Amino acid sequence: MYVVAEKDIAGLMTPEAAFTAIEAVFAAMARRKAYNFPVIREAIGHADALYGFKGGFDGQGLALGLKAGGYWPHNQDHGLINHQSTVFLFDPDTGRVSAAVGGNLLTALRTAAASAVSIKYLAPKGAKVLGMIGAGHQSAFQMRAAAKVHAFEKVIGWNPHPEMLGRLKDTAAEIGLPFEAVELERLGAEADVIISITSSFGPLLMDAHVKGPTHIAAMGTDTQGKQELDPALVARARVFTDEIAQSVSIGETQHAIAQGLIAREAIGELGAVVNGDSPGRGDAEVTLFDGTGVGLQDLAVAAAVVEIARRKGIAQHVEI
Ligand code: NAD
Repeated sequence: MYVVAEKDIAGLMTPEAAFTAIEAVFAAMARRKAYNFPVIREAIGHADALYGFKGGFDGQGLALGLKAGGYWPHNQDHGLINHQSTVFLFDPDTGRVSAAVGGNLLTALRTAAASAVSIKYLAPKGAKVLGMIGAGHQSAFQMRAAAKVHAFEKVIGWNPHPEMLGRLKDTAAEIGLPFEAVELERLGAEADVIISITSSFGPLLMDAHVKGPTHIAAMGTDTQGKQELDPALVARARVFTDEIAQSVSIGETQHAIAQGLIAREAIGELGAVVNGDSPGRGDAEVTLFDGTGVGLQDLAVAAAVVEIARRKGIAQHVEI
């Protein structure tokens, strides 16, 4: 099997390679060539940790495997980040393990690539202003990936903890875009594309905030109870997601569904837009991508990075 160490991922994987892998796997999911296995997530009763597995099989890209990992809230004491994960890939012809890949940076890259795919296919024509809600670890990856797929002229941002906004300012500067911190009212009125990536458990962006043609990539809500958007805004939008089963149970649409504001049947798959089987934005004023994060995304970027590492002679080969 090949081993690609976490420390080597940054030098190997690019936002462009992540984008290509995620666009392809969303397309395969919508064609029913790839499917996710049920997610396992357990509070293990040790170190306050949440641990689990996200897996699947992509019969088109021939990626089989799982991401194992979770959240250890006291990892600072060990000099480690709280989110820890590793991706294991298996040969779909024989079942032999084929790769072990550090999954921490890949998780950020695959999450950012998902919203970038949605921006490529759903952003309103002539979109100029990118609005960022959230200034945590993921937000910088999100902004960089968005700027790769669309020529924005300006970034505006808001965060519930204003002291964190420096991350957005620095990332915009790195990309070469002006940045302005604004209130949510202005963000909703001025941004053509909005990315929300917070750990919020209540609505931040309200229906009344959002004016004119807008695409929203809601990326923070990946657990039951989390919420970033007003359900009325979700109900007004044309909604797409990575996986409908996850969207209605742990994604942003869970609240609008529970309140009877939208029907499950009204939610489309982003992969169908990629495949040309869905018109996408059409005549909708507001589009929403509910990015919940699926195991197949992890497998897709891990398989891509193993390929790159092998080509560059960096993948270590070990017998198991
Ligand atoms: P982080 O801890 O680095 O940053 C947290 C962000 O949420 C900051 O903007 C912070 O100000 C805000 N925040 C914290 N507590 C809040 C609260 N109670 N109410 C409102 N906002 C709050 O986290 P991160 O690594 O940037 O991740 C952000 C979110 O993205 C998390 O919810 C994480 O679970 C989610 N995520 C989703 C996917 C996916 O595939 N959809 C993948 C990775 C992470």
